[in-house]
Amino acid sequence: MSEEYISQLFIDGEWRDGDHGESFAVVDPSDFSELARFAIASEGDCLAAVDAADRAFAGWSRTAPRDRSELLRRAFEIMREEREEIAEIIVRENGKSFADALTEVDYANEFFRWFSEEAVRVPGDYRLSPRGDKRIIVTREPIGVALLVTPWNFPAAMATRKLGPALAAGCTAILKPARETPLTAARIVDILNRAGVPKGVVNLVTPVPTGPAVSVMMRQRAVRKLSFTGSTEVGRLLLHEAADSIISSSMELGGNAPLLVLEGADLDSAVAGAVQAKMRNGGSACTAANRFYVHRSLHDEFVELLSGALDEYRVGPGIDRDNALGALVSRGERDKVADLVTRAAAEGAQVVRGGGAREDGAFYEPTVLVDVAHGSEINRTEIFGPVAAVVAFDDVDDAIRMANDTEYGLIAYVFGAEEQAMSVAHRLEAGMVGVNRGVLSDPAAPFGGVKQSGLGREGGSEGILEFMEEKYIGLSI
Ligand code: NAD
Repeated sequence: MSEEYISQLFIDGEWRDGDHGESFAVVDPSDFSELARFAIASEGDCLAAVDAADRAFAGWSRTAPRDRSELLRRAFEIMREEREEIAEIIVRENGKSFADALTEVDYANEFFRWFSEEAVRVPGDYRLSPRGDKRIIVTREPIGVALLVTPWNFPAAMATRKLGPALAAGCTAILKPARETPLTAARIVDILNRAGVPKGVVNLVTPVPTGPAVSVMMRQRAVRKLSFTGSTEVGRLLLHEAADSIISSSMELGGNAPLLVLEGADLDSAVAGAVQAKMRNGGSACTAANRFYVHRSLHDEFVELLSGALDEYRVGPGIDRDNALGALVSRGERDKVADLVTRAAAEGAQVVRGGGAREDGAFYEPTVLVDVAHGSEINRTEIFGPVAAVVAFDDVDDAIRMANDTEYGLIAYVFGAEEQAMSVAHRLEAGMVGVNRGVLSDPAAPFGGVKQSGLGREGGSEGILEFMEEKYIGLSI
């Protein structure tokens, strides 16, 4: 089976096994079969990757922005040609539905296109000092070797959202994908290689265990940037480590998105948006609506329509294109979701739809809970599965207070008459707010959170700047 997949490390322009010749299993969560064995990177392999990226930096950072741009554009063209094959790899190792995987590939690829365009548009400044004694010149330079650590839920998009801006800025990179989904990461690195990325500019390592190897890489003087997407818990650990070497850190962390349906909202559009915000990627999205606050006048009808819409989701292996909801990434994730629902029910929530796990794969049914107490465990926890927990409210100020009552602040959604919804949007503590929309992600917009959901932004015109440092040059006149 594994000949179908690239399952090696990529260091200094070469695919190779790890120093110790060891490997780990990559598992298909829709039936728990072994898809491939992927090379384990030793500490020595990780250091070789840092060294290669360091040596490649001088050349790559001086490569003309237009050439870096065209390389990313070539990667975009290749990925567009191969979208279905890549989607299949994602389905196999991650479990999501084919439609979700294809949507991810197209979204992921837009980061190559967007940053091929951004590579040639880095802003600078030239102005007279207030005292009139000098010209203030502000220029931007690539920050150095970047360590990119990504999660399993969007194995393609989280990689391109970092590789695109890093390469556009002139940084060299080491990609460390999640252990669950290294095959997609390897395919993306392969695309960049085929697009002509010089040796050492992009490297791929998969150490097991992860923590010690990442720490060793972060202690190397050459590494100047950490771009991490994953849980708040691991992000916090890495920030502590980044402090030791004062490494610039961008953090895309966990979320606990509220979705508010205000009095007078158009119910059909609120339900359609709620389904998108909940079910995109099978609920395994940091942007997934987690807590539904619905005005009491609309609550019962909202719950009925939402449950009805979820009845349409056929559950099963994502490789069968008729299945709209695939598997969660692992047995462990499935059981975590199942346990959260069981404990929510014990705390007084009612399961009005779904509530069941399957044993043949990591499947969990689309589920709706009502009478969920604000502040209960399921309300405080990022569910990361197809479970909607609904809370009724009477007063909009109360709804805003409950929505903001969390340490997270990645994204929020609000449905209602435009003027009121906009005024609520301004009061929500989140880096991103969808007004009458259930999907927001767009490479052209700054993606990121406030509070414990992260630091920095990816995409937009901000994304490339995360991989650059300003340099001020004072010129006497
Ligand atoms: P995770 O934090 O467990 O793992 C993320 C990455 O960190 C993986 O590559 C993992 O191998 C690595 N890692 C784990 N322990 C480490 C350690 N001690 N030192 C260094 N690296 C370590 O997260 P996950 O379970 O893969 O992904 C789910 C989480 O990611 C959710 O919380 C989700 O909200 C978050 N996420 C956030 C965004 C965003 O943009 N804000 C996007 C996608 C996912």
